[in-house]
Amino acid sequence: MTNLPMELRNQLDKAGLSIGCLTVVEREAAPDGTVKYLFGLDDGSTVESVYLPDDDRHTVCFSTQVGCPMGCLFCATGQNGLTRNLTTGEIIDQILRISKFQGVTLTNLVAMGQGEPLLNYDALIKAIRIINDPKGLSMGARRITISTCGIIPGVLKLTEEQLQVNLAISLHAADDDLRNRLMPVNKKYPIVPLLKACQEYIERTGRRVTFEYTLIDGINDRPQDAANLIRLLRGMLCHVNLIPFNPVPGSPFRRSTPSQIHWFAAELNRAHIETTIRKERGTTLTAACGQLQGKFRGE
Ligand code: SF4
Repeated sequence: MTNLPMELRNQLDKAGLSIGCLTVVEREAAPDGTVKYLFGLDDGSTVESVYLPDDDRHTVCFSTQVGCPMGCLFCATGQNGLTRNLTTGEIIDQILRISKFQGVTLTNLVAMGQGEPLLNYDALIKAIRIINDPKGLSMGARRITISTCGIIPGVLKLTEEQLQVNLAISLHAADDDLRNRLMPVNKKYPIVPLLKACQEYIERTGRRVTFEYTLIDGINDRPQDAANLIRLLRGMLCHVNLIPFNPVPGSPFRRSTPSQIHWFAAELNRAHIETTIRKERGTTLTAACGQLQGKFRGE
């Protein structure tokens, strides 16, 4: 920007600040109104974000990293590793771009795209504070959800922030052996200490925690899985969100049958654990996290 004074440009440069915006590399819309965006970044990397309209709710699911280091077995992004963290500007720009392209005021935000949000903690919290700020997007923290695969130090740090954001934990298994296999993060942060950190979050913030549980046929949808999950969560101020598995190309996993999904939900509800089955959105799109980028790369 040569119309800015040289001194200011030097200061911006020294502070590592840049002025720019994400470019839309690809955009896929589904008949139900869901739109997946693949955004291009300055260094040639790409990230995905998703717009999900639902009556008067306008939600954006945004990414926090290019790729992801966590290697969850059922996730396309996890198979390609981490490239880098996103900057605060790149996080916020996904939200601004989608709001502008869709011509809507967004009502809800979810850090659940590519990457593990709590491994890019500082940039994420700074973005949330800007989103909260009346001079920023002026959106209340209660409308923002952070979804983590279970980084315990990040959960504890978030508890200290007293931000009132919604915390969602990608649990996906109710015993350590199975979770170790599906989600390598569990070897470092096993289920019991993770739930202890969640309980701390609940007590300190008064907020309910959501547990995401993707149902995979014959893997984590068996009677013993429901029993284990009930044993872990009974009495906790929580909500379970059951997600029908979205097949990843090349993955041996299959989605649970509709009757198994409904049986699993009924078991949890019978144990007074509030449970819902996630409404499927954009199923004609390249679906689960990481798959739009995979398609773009010709995989
Ligand atoms: S599910 Fe989430 S945490 Fe796990 S590899 Fe995929 S993007 Fe990373």
